[in-house]
Amino acid sequence: MNQHATTPAKGDPLIRLRGIHKYYGDYHALRGIDVDIGQGEFFSLLGPSGCGKTTLLRVIAGFEDVSEGTVVLSGKDMTTVPPNKRPTNMVFQSYAIFPHLTVAQNVAFGLRKRSDVPKQDRDKLVDEALAMVGLGGYGARAAHALSGGQRQRVALARALVLKPRVLLLDEPLSALDKKMREQMQVELIRLQRQVGITFILVTHDQEEALVMSDRIAVMFEGNVAQIAEAEALYRRPVSQRVAEFIGVMNFLPASVTGDTVTVAGLGDMPRAALQSTAITDGPTVAGFRPETATLLFPGQEASERMAKGCVVEVVYYGDMTYYDVRLDGADRNVRISMRNVFGRPVLEIGAEARLSWSPGAVTLFSA
Ligand code: ADP
Ligand code: MG
Repeated sequence: MNQHATTPAKGDPLIRLRGIHKYYGDYHALRGIDVDIGQGEFFSLLGPSGCGKTTLLRVIAGFEDVSEGTVVLSGKDMTTVPPNKRPTNMVFQSYAIFPHLTVAQNVAFGLRKRSDVPKQDRDKLVDEALAMVGLGGYGARAAHALSGGQRQRVALARALVLKPRVLLLDEPLSALDKKMREQMQVELIRLQRQVGITFILVTHDQEEALVMSDRIAVMFEGNVAQIAEAEALYRRPVSQRVAEFIGVMNFLPASVTGDTVTVAGLGDMPRAALQSTAITDGPTVAGFRPETATLLFPGQEASERMAKGCVVEVVYYGDMTYYDVRLDGADRNVRISMRNVFGRPVLEIGAEARLSWSPGAVTLFSA
């Protein structure tokens, strides 16, 4: 990974992973991971299914040993320390709630093995943990009678009651429906701020990662491609692959000749005006996000640059309309998203398209 691809953690790192490799037999699941995660950070591991997110989380927790590399927690080398001796606690994808126990008994379960917590303190700790997750007063209820969202809260309370320094969350919301998931996202953010401990979230949902995280590590095939805050990741992806995984980006063939970049459908522009990860002359790829360009309505003028083409597809979303536009001189469509304005007509398929765009919103990628 190049250095520009990593935004460092704020403050002292609580977790320091260095050169982590993991083999399952011949299969190379983690291929040299270097990550620092700060005290109190909400950090996400984001990537497609099978890229190694769960494996990395389990390495941090100590459920998985490493083939190579070191895991340092709070300045101590914990690479070979068992899970129950680490300051981490994990909430798994499946809730693993005991249905025959009450809510309070489920939450108290983790405390049973903790000899350092006196018996008389347990009820109070359980009540506190339940209040934290919005289940105050639910202690006596039967666990089997809870909804999916409530079960997830019980699982959270059970992890929090142990007062870990790091909470590890493996796709905790994936089983919930969209509405419940969005509500739990907001609650998890609030909870993390309230308890102030480090949260590490595994998700394959880019929107979830953008909404929730202080920083995000994007993973592909056992490697970290980029670590950045949400906005930096969206605006300055280091590769075409990251750009494609986070939201939507239009890609156009481009070529670099000295100080000039020529982009199909957009024309020539000075290289210095673009965001650039490309370093050599020759053929490459330029990209821009759908919302960074606008279609001009009759009578409107471009604020910076104008490109012409034809509207080939219109997808109406109520508040937004997506237009697919074939630019003159380009052999592919670009997508433009426009916020609809009340009373203004939506452009139709076949209409001439005048595109207002800015070189500063274009990213040049290494081929
Ligand atoms: P993710 O959580 O990103 O979906 P995982 O970390 O679960 O991915 O898995 C990464 C890769 O390692 C996958 O190809 C998976 O099949 C493989 N893998 C995970 N656990 C094992 C295991 N215990 N034995 C063999 N292969 C495994
Ligand atoms: Mg997984």
